Amino acid sequence: MSDSPDGSRPAPEHGTRKRLVLMGPPGAGKGTQARVLADELRVPTISTGDLFRANIAAGTELGLKVKGILDAGDYVPDSVTNSMLSERLAQPDCVAGFVLDGYPRTLAQVDELDTMLANHGAEIDAVLELTVDRNELVSRLSKRAVGEGRSDDTPEVIRRRQEVYTEQTEPLLAVYAERGLLVRVDGMGPMHEVTRRMLRVLGHDEVASA
Ligand code: ADP
Repeated sequence: MSDSPDGSRPAPEHGTRKRLVLMGPPGAGKGTQARVLADELRVPTISTGDLFRANIAAGTELGLKVKGILDAGDYVPDSVTNSMLSERLAQPDCVAGFVLDGYPRTLAQVDELDTMLANHGAEIDAVLELTVDRNELVSRLSKRAVGEGRSDDTPEVIRRRQEVYTEQTEPLLAVYAERGLLVRVDGMGPMHEVTRRMLRVLGHDEVASA
């Protein structure tokens, strides 16, 4: 995207904001909403958590390296996460856009993402933060623990993931707010309502087909 003569970026037109980051604490519904939103926008969703879990399930070298870290609720080192994401973003299906779920999660990843996109002549169009009450977060995660059997959904690991989020990821919200990219979306209520709110703030008014 080229800069205008006065140095300010032209506002993206409706329908062109397709390089998106979804943020929010564990349990906010990022994974689910990222998939629905990406379907609506006809772009891929890239979930670092899913990529790690797929590697663990397939028993790859990367999977073996990160399994213990995920099970403890800690973050995978930036170098490992960054190279995995960089490979994914370089795939041709990401050219028209993407919905990132679970990346960036550290300040170093914010810088890395900027660099990766700049290499493709691109930048982030918007960062959507899903906001959900604390009590609701705990109840959603506990339900998921029963339903999906994720090994990092035990009460102790959930607490650890929340702590790590507050310490390492919450500060990113201020960074994106400062850049004028952050949009808060109410993540409470029925799933299709939340999807509709996200599409609305992006300028896509059609009703989600979910
Ligand atoms: P959550 O529902 O807690 O947001 P995710 O599926 O997004 O879970 O991520 C699961 C785990 O994968 C994290 O707890 C962390 O160990 C690892 N992970 C995912 N994304 C990243 C990232 N960007 N940086 C470091 N670790 C990550």
